[in-house]
Amino acid sequence: MSEKFDVVVIGAGPGGYVAAIKSAKLGMKTAVIEEREVGGTCLNRGCIPAKAMIHASTLYREIKEADRFGISASDVTYDFEKILEYKEQTTGQLVQGVEQLLQANGVTRYYGKGTLFEGKKVKITGNEEQFVEAENVILASGSKPLILPIRGMDLPRALTSDELFKLSEVPKSLVIIGGGVISVEFATVYSALGSKVTILEAMPRLVPNMDKEIAQNLKLILKKRGVESHTSAAVQGVHMEGDTCVCTFVEKEKEQTVEAEYVLCAVGRCPNTDGLFAEGAAPDMERGRVLVNDKFESSIPGVYAIGDLIFGAQLAHAASAQGIVVAEQLAGKEPSVNLDVVPGCVYTDPEIASAGITEDAAKEQGIKVKTGKFIMSANGKSLITKEERGFIKIVADEETDVILGAQMMCARATDMIGEFVTAIANKMTVAQLLKGMRAHPTYNEGIGEALEEAEGGAIHVV
Ligand code: FAD
Repeated sequence: MSEKFDVVVIGAGPGGYVAAIKSAKLGMKTAVIEEREVGGTCLNRGCIPAKAMIHASTLYREIKEADRFGISASDVTYDFEKILEYKEQTTGQLVQGVEQLLQANGVTRYYGKGTLFEGKKVKITGNEEQFVEAENVILASGSKPLILPIRGMDLPRALTSDELFKLSEVPKSLVIIGGGVISVEFATVYSALGSKVTILEAMPRLVPNMDKEIAQNLKLILKKRGVESHTSAAVQGVHMEGDTCVCTFVEKEKEQTVEAEYVLCAVGRCPNTDGLFAEGAAPDMERGRVLVNDKFESSIPGVYAIGDLIFGAQLAHAASAQGIVVAEQLAGKEPSVNLDVVPGCVYTDPEIASAGITEDAAKEQGIKVKTGKFIMSANGKSLITKEERGFIKIVADEETDVILGAQMMCARATDMIGEFVTAIANKMTVAQLLKGMRAHPTYNEGIGEALEEAEGGAIHVV
């Protein structure tokens, strides 16, 4: 007899493990099946290792530039092996923490590949083969790197982000195909560590999903750090000349080449459905992604899908929030999170963050808006830390004063965006958000100033 659960989750990334813990906390008998390490892409091959590398490489650059603060640090070096060790330790600690949380919450943990069969039965193929039965199944098998279908992507020096994380040396030079978030974050890391980095992006600007002004500023900042970026550049293929990768691309109808020791393909991710469904047991799908309704239920009643496996924001916090909401629904509760407001963050230096809509998008949608923008060079904390580049911009409905969006490019933007996410999710007005006093001196004061500006005029602006 196979064991029966209220909830069986396939995949223990930030979507799956959070859904499992929340389901267990709400009193449901829960199991989670994971074929690799818990924590998924995020903890093992994504957010956490990337941010550890960004932290170490930025620290190295900042120490070299510390004479701005009267500190002389000559002969600053790094040991890449130790940076990798620190990254592994950080991810290892978090993975272990997730295992402990699953155990502490009474979630049954299965090691192996989960395959959905008809009738909400799930086969687990690990050291042995076994079946479990579920009242509800949550599919959370995530995604893997997308390989561009062009010549040369199978060359040993053409890497995915998974492979770049494993590289034990800093490339002398690196071409990154794609100019999205993952690309610019790796460019930040490796340029700080001394690589000559070139980005090739097919769209007319970097981070195409972000505000236009942010993309323009980012291009300039990266250029200052020695990162060359070509936009509207269509990559044709990669070939080797000796040990050198030669990447051919067309920019403004002109064919060009760029050479590098390694090439990183960072053009997006595709859903992970290998072996996920037994024959005839798959729900409706489109372009490899599971189609779900507004309750995250697939075409099979009682089978849900969340995270990178479905259409929508491909972000860890979105996957986790969806996991919480699905568990709440199964327990007959109202959703505690507003899933419509998803913060988008880029951990470059300065950081970039946005939530809600941009001024351009509001105009396109015919919404009359007022805006408030504050340039951070007039913010005290930014001057103290010499992080004075950047701005905070808010977009609010002209008639109702309700905050609709915010875009920021400044130090700690990825932490500060939370204030706007809370405001937008709760339909707060500019006046309501202004009610809270902000501590001095903080970067946060910039938010107060942007709000003041939307209401008629910031204090520290001439
Ligand atoms: P995943 O994290 O992919 O987890 C899916 C899990 O399911 C995996 O552990 C996999 O082994 C397991 N699995 C798959 N199939 C099966 C099966 N059949 N049986 C059992 N187990 C299975 N997002 C952010 O929000 N912030 C960031 O800063 C950020 N940085 C990133 C940096 C990089 C380099 C990358 C690649 C991604 C980054 N992301 C970031 C995106 C983020 O990692 C993903 O959006 C997130 O991990 C998706 O979560 P998920 O639970 O849907 O899937």
